[in-house]
Amino acid sequence: MIRFTHASVTYPGGVAALKDLSLDIAEGEFVVVVGLSGAGKSTLIRTVNGLVPLSGGSVEVGSRTVGDLNRSRLRALRADVGMIFQHYNLVNRTTVLNNVLMGRLNRVPGWRSMLGWWGRDEVERAMRALEVVEIVEKAYVRAANLSGGQQQRVGIARALAQEPTVLLADEPVASLDPPTSHTVMRYLHRANRELGITTLVNLHFLDLARQYADRIVGLRAGAVVFDGPASAVDEKV
Ligand code: ADP
Ligand code: ADP
Repeated sequence: MIRFTHASVTYPGGVAALKDLSLDIAEGEFVVVVGLSGAGKSTLIRTVNGLVPLSGGSVEVGSRTVGDLNRSRLRALRADVGMIFQHYNLVNRTTVLNNVLMGRLNRVPGWRSMLGWWGRDEVERAMRALEVVEIVEKAYVRAANLSGGQQQRVGIARALAQEPTVLLADEPVASLDPPTSHTVMRYLHRANRELGITTLVNLHFLDLARQYADRIVGLRAGAVVFDGPASAVDEKV
């Protein structure tokens, strides 16, 4: 589903964030990428939806080679790839429901949705996404009035409303306390299992990775230093 072939990224200024990295992620897998700060985790994830361009090699998502896509095809790719952020990136002044509907902008282009005029079927779809993360009762609450854990659940719902085939989560629990981190990881896991969405999550806590991942990829200085089932990871990654 996601295939990196000799992928490298060198940022302007010369930092080599990914170095000749090859990795194959199968459809439906739940993969957690672990590594210290600066290892290249965030860069790796951002190459999948073309937010960071490769300097060499390729990344393929399904049948698409990301670097070869023109603007409209890149937009179509991004519609298929949901993204979840460390700081949730919600629009705080509007409601939870409106935030989730923003995930639909990728699917329902046009001036009605741009203006926030959504049909009933779209609202129902957004509500179903909120049901997955069990936060329907907050639909009409302003996003700013939710706790961090609740905001991240809305972040997941927004991504799910997009009906993605791939979900990317860049340090989704780094701003949350341990119990809340588990809650958020459980919902990501649920989305993977129940909806079959191929999921790639960056984490810096190995414990959490071992509890939820099918497979753990360890990154260090832009290269894969470990790749195996969660059960095979020792403490030293
Ligand atoms: P991680 O997510 O594992 O912390 P990153 O992918 O964010 O790692 O960063 C990998 C390396 O690339 C680091 O050395 C970081 O400083 C550098 N880097 C990340 N983003 C940029 C950027 N936009 N410009 C220049 N260097 C960057
Ligand atoms: P930044 O200052 O980090 O670029 P912005 O102030 O631009 O952030 O806030 C927009 C953030 O929301 C960006 O990080 C962007 O990637 C993210 N974003 C944009 N569109 C969507 C979307 N449809 N779903 C989720 N996140 C989105």
